[in-house]
Amino acid sequence: MTEDVLSPKRRKRLHEFVQLLQVKPGSHVNLERDFAPDFKAGVKKKKDGEALLEEGIALMCEYQARLAAQENWGVLVVLQALDAAGKDGTIRHVMSGVNPQGVSVSGFKVPSSEELSHDYLWRYQRKLPARGQIGIFNRSYYEEVLVVRVHPENLERQKLPPAAKGGDVWKRRYREINDWERYLTDNGFRIVKLFLNLSREEQRSRFLRRIDLPDHNWKFSSADVQERGHWDEYQKAFSDVLTHTSTAWAPWYVIPADRKWFERLSVGMVLANTLVGIDPHYPKVDKKHRDALLEVKRALEAQAPKGAAADPFMEGQHNGKPPAESPA
Ligand code: AMP
Ligand code: MG
Repeated sequence: MTEDVLSPKRRKRLHEFVQLLQVKPGSHVNLERDFAPDFKAGVKKKKDGEALLEEGIALMCEYQARLAAQENWGVLVVLQALDAAGKDGTIRHVMSGVNPQGVSVSGFKVPSSEELSHDYLWRYQRKLPARGQIGIFNRSYYEEVLVVRVHPENLERQKLPPAAKGGDVWKRRYREINDWERYLTDNGFRIVKLFLNLSREEQRSRFLRRIDLPDHNWKFSSADVQERGHWDEYQKAFSDVLTHTSTAWAPWYVIPADRKWFERLSVGMVLANTLVGIDPHYPKVDKKHRDALLEVKRALEAQAPKGAAADPFMEGQHNGKPPAESPA
């Protein structure tokens, strides 16, 4: 693909779609009031959504290759959701076709004893993507203001000195997270935060499906049903997180999750839009480097055995004529 892979019209459409999902920095969010889990952004049919997602994935592949080649920027994708909202399936579908060498996925579960012996961001810091890479966090440091808040015994386990767990520990953590994200952004790492927003009824239906289909029994955990019992507390904790940590440098996107096809389309669009916004380019080779390459080329051509083409690649690809210079 060439540089103008995306027409200004498509770029604008992509941007407008993604804006519908963004939590405006500074807004006060009430999840249930402000974001519908079955929102479709005007995309009427699943078939249309799937076709759009394919376009989005193609775009991501191209831009990810450039990101990897340029090695200036990195992208961190933060995925948060309630159980059964489809985090794993979304990662699998949306990242299909992207070069696995450029992507890492890190999941975060209940912290280990070693992890609890460090500051709460330590274990996430260690899994950050390098420049040129896309790192996906399947759950993230946001658990530190979600599950830890809903179940305060988690905070007790963190071996904190009294001052660090006293006062408004959640407001302080929002500020620390915002500062940390700003630091990362200033250093060339874009942060994309996605909350997969599932309705209570759709979660119930998906849990039942996991029980009804024997092949899916392994996915079902009774801990998930216990967490469902804390539904309202999680809605409140998520609303607060969205209110306090959707910033100009690292905004949140609320992804409607009741329809899997729309969820995947939305995630694909947000990621494609982020990569397009970074606008990475393949590194250009300067004249000096190009001249050096041509010198090596002449030396290699001189080594052609009797009867062989001086440059078999050129011979085969372009009938012996050099290719047109790419506009890059
Ligand atoms: P799952 O991803 O559903 O297999 O489960 C991972 C579990 O680890 C979830 O129940 C999370 O709430 C829990 N978890 C993740 N991060 C933390 C954390 N920082 N503190 C306590 N529990 C956590
Ligand atoms: Mg679970």
